[in-house]
Amino acid sequence: MHYQEQAAGTRRTPRWLLFTWFVVIGAALLATSAPVANASHSDTSSYKRHQALIHWSTGDGSVQGANDEDYCADSQTGSMSADTAAVRVRDTLVVASPHWDGTGNWRLDLWKSPSPCTAYADRNWIELEYRVADNWNARCGGTYAQYSCVEHYTPIYTSQYGHYHYTWNNSYLTVTHIDGGATEYRELINHESGHLFGLLDGGGDCPGSIMHNRWYGCSNWPNWYPSNGDFNSVVAIMNGR
Ligand SMILES: [Zn+2]
Ligand SMILES: [Zn+2]
Repeated sequence: MHYQEQAAGTRRTPRWLLFTWFVVIGAALLATSAPVANASHSDTSSYKRHQALIHWSTGDGSVQGANDEDYCADSQTGSMSADTAAVRVRDTLVVASPHWDGTGNWRLDLWKSPSPCTAYADRNWIELEYRVADNWNARCGGTYAQYSCVEHYTPIYTSQYGHYHYTWNNSYLTVTHIDGGATEYRELINHESGHLFGLLDGGGDCPGSIMHNRWYGCSNWPNWYPSNGDFNSVVAIMNGR
């Protein structure tokens, strides 16, 4: 199985960003070039494909605050309920160890929405959506049900770090990639979440990474969890590299 990510389009168009369409077009053009893989496998251009709030924290994991990352899950297939999808995403992100939640002294502080994504008419407060379907072929490419992928929406510029990053970020999960045991769904959800936090796919090298795993010809990372290098890479992105 192979998986890929894309960066394009816009999920919502907030009126508070007059330049939204300009930067969305810029991002769409950028997406036509292949992701660059390097030692720390993160973006090298001024457009950094990660959720914008990962640079900052509000307290620690005990209090939900403005700089924390809210996420929801939902399903549009009868093969998996929205609740099951949410349980599997939360298990991966905050329960199983090691996990992404808390990375960078709680700059990554993940909070699940009480209800499925589509229960909310206004989802502007939810930074990350995990959506499950039988097939994301039209969105992710490949053959039927071949790929899961992520998309990043509405870039915003932060002068403190000198780059664009993204307000809303969706992970499109093909149900047959996450309907098995914990090892299977955690591997996929951790990989796609790595994209949400700024990591790119493997490009032939095998540094020991959930992003450079068996799907990319690497036999040295058979694990379902992110490596120390993956956590360190996300912290480096948080620090503005
Ligand atoms: Zn990937
Ligand atoms: Zn950033």
